[in-house]
Amino acid sequence: MKILVLGGAGYIGSHICKALSQQSHHSVVVDNLSTGHREAVRWSRFIEADILDRDSLIRILQDEGPFDLIMHFCAKSLVGESMQNPALYYRNNVVGTLNLLDAMVATGHDKLVFSSTAAVFGMPEKELIDEQHSRLPINPYGQSKKMIEDVLGDYHDAYGVKSVALRYFNACGADPDGEIGERHEPETHLIPNILKSAIAGKTAELKVFGDKYPTPDGTCIRDYIHVNDLASAHILAGEYLQTHAGASAFNLGNGNGFSVLQVIEAAGNVIGRDIAYTVEAPRAGDPPILVSDARQAGEILGWQPVYTDIESIIATAWHWHQNETF
Ligand code: UDP
Repeated sequence: MKILVLGGAGYIGSHICKALSQQSHHSVVVDNLSTGHREAVRWSRFIEADILDRDSLIRILQDEGPFDLIMHFCAKSLVGESMQNPALYYRNNVVGTLNLLDAMVATGHDKLVFSSTAAVFGMPEKELIDEQHSRLPINPYGQSKKMIEDVLGDYHDAYGVKSVALRYFNACGADPDGEIGERHEPETHLIPNILKSAIAGKTAELKVFGDKYPTPDGTCIRDYIHVNDLASAHILAGEYLQTHAGASAFNLGNGNGFSVLQVIEAAGNVIGRDIAYTVEAPRAGDPPILVSDARQAGEILGWQPVYTDIESIIATAWHWHQNETF
């Protein structure tokens, strides 16, 4: 397949580009490098452009296309930031994706894999969140992604745009070869923060946001899924779209929840020493528990995560953080 990857210089997009090249697919990356890294684009042609510039998108789709598939990862994705600056999230995530969809319709492109999130669900109503769970986001980040999921349904019915929205639970881990990995400025995610605190050797640098949640140890529980397992799901979704219409959505996770303290303990086992932390106030917008029921992605897309063990996931991230190349 020939695939346009918007946001391919970012953490998840760059791992997908590597996986695409390993399966002999051809990819072109568009990224504005606001949070992505030019050094992470190693398996694709690179074009610097912004999804807020619809005319550029139309030009790229015309000049570089036609594409068999578009994958879209350009998004602001931090819950806390979205609470403080919702305008940034609605403009970038909602308006940006509308620009892309309109550019696709204008240039005759009709297949999209969209990067969505477990944050569309809000407070869990049952232990495992499946696709039928109600979507009631509790932060503007989740709301912006839910809005686009709804738009995708309408663009399918009115303009024939076929799409798969993939709702990631907690993306983590790194390329096991150590060529690319997770790097955000500033870093807000749990696993990189744990590992960076261990590398810096600074005790107590790591902060645990809240220990009074209604969970067994009081810290938030999440479902950690390896970035390469997300990559395989995207490729399967792209193949699915070659033969299926509709605007579908699938949850992607391992189906196992780990508390913040359990992740810190698992990281300590990987590194071989205890990791110090302090407990701070809870972070606004964090639900206590988010764990997936991802069976539908298995049944319909044929997806199976390979990295099912939290320590093996953390080990790939540890390998990257010790030798970061960008
Ligand atoms: N967290 C934490 N310390 C950190 C980063 C995150 O305690 O330095 C917590 C955060 O409050 C949440 C969980 O770890 O309960 C996962 O957060 P992350 O930012 O990795 O992912 P999110 O769930 O927001 O997508």
